[in-house]
Amino acid sequence: MFKQSAQHIATYYAGTYPGQIPLRPSLPGSLHCDVLIIGGGFSGLHTALRLSLAGKRVVVLEASRLAWAASGRNGGQALLGWSCDMPPLEKALGHGRTLELWNSMRWAAEEIRELPERHGFDIDYRPGSLWAAVQQRRVGQLHEARREAEEKWGYSEMRVIEQDEIREWIDSPRYLAALYDPQAGHLNPLKLAQGLANAIEKAGGRIFEQSQVLDYRETADGFIARTDKGEVHSDQLVLACNAYVDRLDPQLSSRLLPVGSYQIATVPLAPDFARSLLPRNSCVIDNQFVPDYFRLTPDHRLLFGGGCTYLGGIPKDVASATRPYLERAFPQLRGVEFEYAWGGHIDVSMKRTPDIGRQGQRYWLQGFSGHGVLPTLAGARAVADAILGDETLLALYQGIDNPRFPGGALLAAPLEAAGKAWYRLRDVI
Ligand SMILES: Cc1cc2nc3c(=O)[nH]c(=O)nc-3n(C[C@H](O)[C@H](O)[C@H](O)COP(=O)(O)OP(=O)(O)OC[C@H]3O[C@@H](n4cnc5c(N)ncnc54)[C@H](O)[C@@H]3O)c2cc1C
Repeated sequence: MFKQSAQHIATYYAGTYPGQIPLRPSLPGSLHCDVLIIGGGFSGLHTALRLSLAGKRVVVLEASRLAWAASGRNGGQALLGWSCDMPPLEKALGHGRTLELWNSMRWAAEEIRELPERHGFDIDYRPGSLWAAVQQRRVGQLHEARREAEEKWGYSEMRVIEQDEIREWIDSPRYLAALYDPQAGHLNPLKLAQGLANAIEKAGGRIFEQSQVLDYRETADGFIARTDKGEVHSDQLVLACNAYVDRLDPQLSSRLLPVGSYQIATVPLAPDFARSLLPRNSCVIDNQFVPDYFRLTPDHRLLFGGGCTYLGGIPKDVASATRPYLERAFPQLRGVEFEYAWGGHIDVSMKRTPDIGRQGQRYWLQGFSGHGVLPTLAGARAVADAILGDETLLALYQGIDNPRFPGGALLAAPLEAAGKAWYRLRDVI
């Protein structure tokens, strides 16, 4: 079973956080509130902020530290869209309702830029993302995606960077072309989580760390959630536990497969050399089935991720597992020293569709499938609106079917691993 932890793991974000990462108290005893949110990642924190600002009495319980899991370990790429891409959403919802969902994603891309300013914190946001093609046969996909975004979803901001221009954006022999999105960007996720937490507290919300919910039950008056030192009574409950929901809610965890994902941060590079790698400072993800993704940090490091594991674990030596991918993308970085290497878990749903909904007064957000920086914000808005009485957005998510993994994680993991091996093979042939 998932166990709480007292410290952040050694990520680039924790290692370079300015000053001490604030420590919140653990739950001291018995409390009453309107809404209890379990999980202090982006899903929980965004939901908590919106509800606190609307005057709800909110409590957040985080098992470890805020953003201890995926929200404090990710690549910081704030990309529009969902892991599943648009076809499964359109299949489930039809064109008109998918367009509404897409518009909420566009809202999230604006909101992530405005939130920090509104609440007085900094997330090192830099605009611009590239979706890059490695293989000639996948260059067409970029053009198709641009055309479809414009014609179907009314999104005409993107443009294709062709081969004759690509080295001005990514100084790598590996990439043939890329789709540039000026509305996407990259940011420091741990600063985002801490900024959200401060804003929640200013708005009257209460946050407790190292307060793992051991179980919860529904009563005639609402919910009672128990930690080892106390309990919270609430009218409504939001489960935002991501890949760690585990035995707390077997119904939710049966629809998720926790998959390991990992990345590295180099030592700070000479500023001019760092800038030469990504001259426009866009973040990059490629369009291989198992993508490499990378970006620069404000202190001139390259953050680089590539590869994932389906059998629960994260490689013992993340640095060695990642180096070949990094050196393949940037031969000029051969032998570069890494200062941080870490991994985390993503919450893969069967169709990689977001799994956000409610049953009575119990709400949940999960299934971001490795792409959650903006989708958690869009999802949190849907859940917070519904709790405040407007179900419009939540009804869209509720229209997406998220089946259980047949045979549970034990059977699903090897099947997914086999599937992934096949797709990786297709990436190289
Ligand atoms: C290595 C890596 C790279 C990634 N890169 C990107 C990227 O570049 N762009 C992008 O869009 N997405 C990326 N993602 C995905 C993204 O980080 C996640 O989708 C997003 O952070 C999910 O947020 P969350 O709040 O739902 O979950 P989490 O951040 O995982 O938070 C869940 C929280 O719930 C807590 N919890 C669980 N059980 C309990 C309990 N019983 N009691 C109390 N608390 C509990 C956990 O401790 C945890 O803090 C990446 C993920 C990883 C792991």
